[in-house]
Amino acid sequence: MSENNFDVVVIGSGPGGYVAAIRAAQLGLKTACVEKDPTLGGTCLNVGCIPSKALLQASEEYAHADKALKRHGVMVENLQLDLLTMMGHKDKVVSDLTKGILHLFDKNDITHITGSGALGATGEVVVTDDSGAESTLLSKATIIATGSESASLPGIEIDEKRIVSSTGALALEEVPGHLAVIGAGYIGLEMASVWGRLGAKITVIEFLDRIVPGMDGELATNFQKMLRRQKMKFKLSTKVTGAELGESGVALTMEPVDGGGAETLDADIVLVAVGRKPYTQGLGLEQAGVKTDGGGRIEVNEHFETSVAGVYAIGDVIAGPMLAHKAEDEGVAAAEIIAGQKSHVNYDAIPGVVYTHPELASVGQTEEQLKETGIDYTAGSFPFIANGRARAMSATDGFVKVLADAKSDRILGVHIMGADAGTIIAEAVLAIELGASAKDLARTCHAHPTLNEALKEAALDVDERAIHV
Ligand code: FAD
Repeated sequence: MSENNFDVVVIGSGPGGYVAAIRAAQLGLKTACVEKDPTLGGTCLNVGCIPSKALLQASEEYAHADKALKRHGVMVENLQLDLLTMMGHKDKVVSDLTKGILHLFDKNDITHITGSGALGATGEVVVTDDSGAESTLLSKATIIATGSESASLPGIEIDEKRIVSSTGALALEEVPGHLAVIGAGYIGLEMASVWGRLGAKITVIEFLDRIVPGMDGELATNFQKMLRRQKMKFKLSTKVTGAELGESGVALTMEPVDGGGAETLDADIVLVAVGRKPYTQGLGLEQAGVKTDGGGRIEVNEHFETSVAGVYAIGDVIAGPMLAHKAEDEGVAAAEIIAGQKSHVNYDAIPGVVYTHPELASVGQTEEQLKETGIDYTAGSFPFIANGRARAMSATDGFVKVLADAKSDRILGVHIMGADAGTIIAEAVLAIELGASAKDLARTCHAHPTLNEALKEAALDVDERAIHV
């Protein structure tokens, strides 16, 4: 096989692409991964999951030391914020992890090619490097994993200084006096939490009449109350119509969605967090005959194959939740399918987590979805205030809700607001993956005292037999 001849070429090295490349190599396929950016890891490692979680953790430590430690008898005097060190920690975590992928590529004999990949003639990927030089890779199968980019609103131009996307919000040089966040999805609220904890006044503006769209309604309502207690202000059912840059800030104009007078809001920084759109620029999809849907996402069949045989697509660039673990699982499945194995992704068992305080975590169907589809269900819930470990941790906010099929008792959805909800949810994901019933979860022995006992109690409550309420 010549140097430029591969079994699999992956375009993009985010969690979808790099995981697909590793799995393909594990299965004995000669694999290359083409990445246009100087570092590997895509949105997730460079400007997404990882840096945001580093700042969420650091800012929570700060808020904890400032407000919560007293309750535990730990007195902190003269607390100070060193933003430069906080940002330095975040940057080091990102740098270490992106280098870690290089190491994994080496270990698995994956050829890493720096440059922009595009589909060429059948079985070819054309790579253009920084100098404009082109090379052609021959590939039996190509996996497109080019991810997504931040979306904006008409009339609002992101300059990453005063009007920022999440990328700019992860790298502010000082704590803004007033941060206006357009969009109450998980990215907007996580960034609002970071800067709010560090002292910024926060106003969140959302077009819909609720926050965290797509998550269970009861969870969202309670979550908004918690965030209000953290002094976040919300303007729901409000449409931002323009943003004007001034000397030292931004004047945002907005109006109620249902009509009414326009108003202006002055902010030091505006974060535009209105969602993300698939990134397919320069891939040459049209010439190659790869079909996209109305939203610009690449269409694939159940084998992740596009309208062109031998060309596959995974991750944010195709339909489904734009989440790193969804991209990873699709990467594994696509590689296994290319290697001739049977593989699939169970989209009913993909968790979604918001890493605020408290955390939100969900898997499966919401109550709204069950009602809409007319599925007869029973619900059980349990508050963290009745959980011993949560009491010991002073983390009593929130609850667990389990939704089960009324006839079969099979678990259909689990929704959690509380400390470590993102970790607790893994047990619920496994339960759904294995087709467990609420009774299965309820009869499973849980270590005491743990936060997960709240999940067991919520499962018991489906049968109205919770012990500790
Ligand atoms: P990406 O990670 O976007 O990677 C695509 C890669 O392809 C990029 O490196 C890009 O440079 C490269 N590329 C694009 N075009 C070409 C080309 N033509 N040639 C070569 N290379 C190309 N998800 C979670 O699950 N949990 C979280 O906590 C979370 N937090 C987030 C926080 C923020 C602030 C943001 C913005 C996102 C977050 N996400 C989170 C979403 C997550 O980052 C994405 O779902 C995930 O990165 C998608 O992976 P992907 O492999 O599809 O694409």
